[in-house]
Amino acid sequence: MTTPTEFMAAAPTGLNGNTPWAARYASELRQVVNEHARGSARNLQVHLGPSEIGSPCDRQVVGKLAGIPVTNHVVDPWASVVGTAVHAWLADAFAADNKRHGLRWVPEQRVVPHPDHPGTADLYDAVEQAVVDHKCLGESSMAKIRPPGDPPQRYVIQLLLYGKGYRLLGLPVARVAIAAYPRTSHTLDGLYVWERAARDDDDALIEEIFELTRQRKLLANEVRNGRPLLTVPATPSDDECFFCPFYRPQSAHDNGPGCPGNRR
Ligand code: SF4
Repeated sequence: MTTPTEFMAAAPTGLNGNTPWAARYASELRQVVNEHARGSARNLQVHLGPSEIGSPCDRQVVGKLAGIPVTNHVVDPWASVVGTAVHAWLADAFAADNKRHGLRWVPEQRVVPHPDHPGTADLYDAVEQAVVDHKCLGESSMAKIRPPGDPPQRYVIQLLLYGKGYRLLGLPVARVAIAAYPRTSHTLDGLYVWERAARDDDDALIEEIFELTRQRKLLANEVRNGRPLLTVPATPSDDECFFCPFYRPQSAHDNGPGCPGNRR
């Protein structure tokens, strides 16, 4: 007869540990991280911040505004956990730089470009009059920002909204910038900055976004009153679908909840 110890010893170790105990323990640790990540304040926020209203996909924003339940259970939260931790570290780093060299940086500032859509901007540089957003990116996302690519529309709109928020606080904004930090590299050699100088038509662009958001709120009311989310126009893209809360490729075949996105 096999004892429990012999049974455990015979179990496959898998890829996550050198013994059955270690593999099981890895799975327990992972569960704690995942549960905390899913329940984090960022994931539970109900209002849509500047990072969300700039999505080019009506269906995604309408679904969020309407409070449709999440159907995307594919995305592993680890990249977002690393990004959140790096953001906290960078905020400390720039605050400490103020103490060493005099006031220059405003890290983690609440800004309100629109009363319904406040957010927390990563960094303001008073010397360069620049609004800076930290992005902690994997190699494929980094490649999209480097030439000949351009940052996703959502990033640019987010920055313009932060810029408006800072201007409403009385701070001049000469440019906005993305500081893209390499998430998987062991050095900062790959740090890449994309910038855009302030333009005369920035405010008109921002008003267009607010008008689009107003229309999306009307659609969200219809969805709350029973209109199927899938009847809302969608703009599937590689940038948006994988991280979209409503992405569920199987819905293309099983008529279940969710949006098939770019996997039609
Ligand atoms: S999965 Fe893609 S197409 Fe569908 S709502 Fe999300 S972003 Fe839009």
